[in-house]
Amino acid sequence: MEDFNSETDSDYTSYWRDWFVSSRGNEYFCEIDEDYLTDRFNLTGLNTEVPYYQYALDLVTDVFDLDADDDLREQIEKSARHLYGLVHARYIVTTRGLGKMLDKYKKSEFGKCPRVMCDGHPLLPVGQSDLPNMTTVKLYCPKCEDIYNPKSSRHASIDGAYFGTSFHSILFQVYPALNPEKSVRRYEPRIYGFKVHAAAALARWQDNCREDMKARIGDFGLAQKFIEDSESEDEGFEYGEEYSEQPAKTEKVLGDTASGRMDLGK
Ligand SMILES: [Zn+2]
Repeated sequence: MEDFNSETDSDYTSYWRDWFVSSRGNEYFCEIDEDYLTDRFNLTGLNTEVPYYQYALDLVTDVFDLDADDDLREQIEKSARHLYGLVHARYIVTTRGLGKMLDKYKKSEFGKCPRVMCDGHPLLPVGQSDLPNMTTVKLYCPKCEDIYNPKSSRHASIDGAYFGTSFHSILFQVYPALNPEKSVRRYEPRIYGFKVHAAAALARWQDNCREDMKARIGDFGLAQKFIEDSESEDEGFEYGEEYSEQPAKTEKVLGDTASGRMDLGK
C-alpha cells in the first residue's frame, strides 16, 4: 500500500493485482486469474457488498479510467481491496486457487505453528466467519488442529472473510495425502519432576477417551494414524502408583463422557 502512489493516473493502469499481492502485509493473498475476475458469475452478489463496485472492479482488472479527485480515488482503492479479498475467498477453493495456495503453504509462507510439539509445521490462513468485518484472519495448523493469531500486526488486521471458514478443509479434501499425521504428544506439567496431580488425572482421562474413540473408529473400519504411535521410546503418559489398582473402567469413562463430567480419580 505504501508503495502505491495514488497521485499519478498512470499507476492505475499497471497491473493492480500484481502490485496488490506483492505489497507488504498482503503475503497471504495469491493472485486471482484475470479469467476468473472477468466472469461475472464468480462475482455474484458482490455488487451490493462493495461500494463503487464497478469502479473497484475496473481498478482490479486494470481498465480503470476515471478522472476522479483524490478523495474518491482513495474510496475506490479501498473498495478494490475489499472486492479483491471477497473474490479471493471464492477463488482459493477453485482448482487453480487451491494449487496456488498449496504452493504458498509448502513454502511456509503463512508461517509455522508456534506449538512446540508441532515442530514448526506450516500453517494455513482461516476465517472464523464467511461474512466480512466480523473477525480477522487466523492461522490453522493441520497437525494440532488448532488456530493461532498471526505474528505480524500487518497480517492480524486482515479480514478473515477474505479466506473463509472452509478453505483449509477443502484443501485437505482435494489433497488428502497432504493431511499430516495428527499430533498426540503433549506437554506434561511437572513440579520438580513429579507430575501435577490434577493435570495427570486429566491426561489419563483424555487418553482413555482417545483409546475409546480409536476403538469406535476402528469398529467402522476407519483407521486414523497418530504420528507418535510409532515412537515406542516415547515415555508418554504413565499411570501413577495410586491408579495402578484401578483397571481401565471403560464403561465408567463412557458414562462420564456422555454426561460431560470428568472423574479426576478422587
Ligand atoms: Zn500445531
